[in-house]
Amino acid sequence: MQASDTQPIAAIATAAGRGAVGIVRLSGRGLRPWAEHWLGRPLQPRHAHYLPFPAEDGQAIDHGLALFFPAPHSYTGEDVLELQAHGGPIVLQLLLARCLQSAAAPNPATGQPWLAQLRLAEPGEFTRRAFLNDKMDLAQAEAVADLIDASTESAARSASRSLSGAFSQAIAQLRERLIHLRMLVEATLDFPEEDVDFLEAADARGQLAGLQAQLRAIGQRARQGALLREGLHVVIAGQPNAGKSSLLNTLAGAELAIVTPIAGTTRDKVEQTIQIDGVPLHIIDTAGLRQTDDLVEQIGVQRAWQALEQAQVVLFLHDALQAHDPASQERDAAILAQLHARLRSAGAAAASDAPTPVTAPDGMAAVPIVHVWNKCDAASDFRAAQPDALVLSAKTGQGLDALRQRLLQLAGHETVAEDVFMARARHVQALAEVGEHLAQAQAQLDSPAPALDLLAEELRLAQLALNRITGEFGADDLLGVIFSRFCIGK
Ligand code: GDP
Repeated sequence: MQASDTQPIAAIATAAGRGAVGIVRLSGRGLRPWAEHWLGRPLQPRHAHYLPFPAEDGQAIDHGLALFFPAPHSYTGEDVLELQAHGGPIVLQLLLARCLQSAAAPNPATGQPWLAQLRLAEPGEFTRRAFLNDKMDLAQAEAVADLIDASTESAARSASRSLSGAFSQAIAQLRERLIHLRMLVEATLDFPEEDVDFLEAADARGQLAGLQAQLRAIGQRARQGALLREGLHVVIAGQPNAGKSSLLNTLAGAELAIVTPIAGTTRDKVEQTIQIDGVPLHIIDTAGLRQTDDLVEQIGVQRAWQALEQAQVVLFLHDALQAHDPASQERDAAILAQLHARLRSAGAAAASDAPTPVTAPDGMAAVPIVHVWNKCDAASDFRAAQPDALVLSAKTGQGLDALRQRLLQLAGHETVAEDVFMARARHVQALAEVGEHLAQAQAQLDSPAPALDLLAEELRLAQLALNRITGEFGADDLLGVIFSRFCIGK
């Protein structure tokens, strides 16, 4: 813990902009004497006091509510003071500045500042303190940010579930079983003459198998949660006029429950987030991929290629009306060849037309290319050349359901179960590592002459990977990365 971690902190806790109510939040030791002096009255714990917030000249900056939560029964585990004022940016800034100013004023009894150390909070610092003071573990702290950032109802529900500790409890149960097995193995290390027989008798093999089954179940729920959180990046590619924009509009139009145009991408490539069955799909309609002398269009084409390299799924749109035009077919083939080359050079595994789950357990994702033939409404009797191609009409919506199902299938999505955990790629990765160490442990147990020290080591490493999820041994740099992505005041 750094020295600054013990200084009292203050921040505007509500979103920037105007609202009915805005909150300035403070946390730290020794808040109460200063706050009671400044506000001119005793503060009863967990009571709403309606009062003026005095400026330096004694005039009120605003009238509002002060709520005091004494340590340790507060969000951060420290003394917390919440000041609810009217939600204007200037009012809140004045209130925050006034807190800092009055805290630095001398206490007449001691001649020392009331709270000399009071400073502005860094992003995520309130939640970081809650974690450091054992009010929540790391997975729960991350769920705070995920709940705030949730863009779909399912994502919000699963974040709330993780915040309430369901994910952490599942990890804790797994850890308990793992520790039990570790104790058995460590005990045999101490009494080597009993070794393998002892493990047999204690059914170490059965325990390990049970552990692996439980890990798989948790991993599955966490992967679904990560998918709900991160969504799937889908790029629509193809020749100009194939109907890419039409397809995006139709997909978005039909699923318009939540459509968010992402700032900065609307001019040359259009990205929209839609949801299918609660899974956010970030769909990018690329600028027509063609050679051009137009400078602006060249930039669009360049960006389209960059977007393609980020893609998790590519929808390659063919124009069914051009199916019998050899020149158009050649252009499709040329774009496809370039696409395959780019996807490979972007470090992805070889592109495959097979419906490969995007979240491969080893973290390496193949980028599937789905062939979609558009304009089937105007091309009667059309038959696609590729066996698993989809045939649809962006204009009439015919065939769109099959496309949605294919996208969900590629995302590895199963029907959103009620028990999905909000998880992050970091958690999924850690669970995969646990699985690898357990597999190594199993290989030792299954070998004719198990090396018990190696078995013990694999189990120890499995537990370390598991601990990383809830932050039991969270390295400071890991904490820095996680909390710096929070907004100020959280
Ligand atoms: P993009 O350049 O690939 O984005 O293609 P657009 O979406 O702009 O569509 C090009 C042209 O094809 C427009 O005139 C559309 O109306 C037409 N179009 C798009 N989808 C369909 C479809 O499903 N059926 C028919 N008949 N025309 C379509």
